[in-house]
Amino acid sequence: MTENKTFTMIKPDAVENGHIGAILEKITAAGFKIVALKYTQLSLRDAKEFYAVHKERPFFEELVTFMTRGPIVAAILEKENAVEDFRVLIGATNPAEAAEGTIRKLFATSIGENAVHGSDSDENAAIEGAFHFSGREVYA
Ligand code: ATP
Ligand code: MG
Repeated sequence: MTENKTFTMIKPDAVENGHIGAILEKITAAGFKIVALKYTQLSLRDAKEFYAVHKERPFFEELVTFMTRGPIVAAILEKENAVEDFRVLIGATNPAEAAEGTIRKLFATSIGENAVHGSDSDENAAIEGAFHFSGREVYA
């Protein structure tokens, strides 16, 4: 995956609350092109692998329980400066600290149940995209 891509998930809370359409609309309106898209559910094993970097954190069990409790939408997005621009679009991890108009300000409910994931580096975007999609599922 090249440097103009990022990876996102619409998390179980936002799916449960009926926000898939509104979030995809915000993403495309901000200039991101959806190059891969999937409605799926993480197994416990998937979630533990995806969030392995956080395994020593006190919220790890809460995080994997939350991320596996219902379906998610996974997507690879393309835009110049994608990783950084997408982090701006989603806002701070804690919705109480997220800027007005950001996806987390609009749709998240708490620091744990915060509506969306966004990759934090080009390297992780590539790893996370490959975790969810095979090459033939990416229309870049
Ligand atoms: P993400 O990686 O999902 O885009 P982020 O990069 O903003 O979020 P991280 O520090 O990577 O934040 O944390 C990963 C996820 O773990 C958060 O999005 C949230 O769902 C959960 N999380 C982070 N901090 C806490 C906390 N203090 N209590 C509960 N859950 C938390
Ligand atoms: Mg993160």
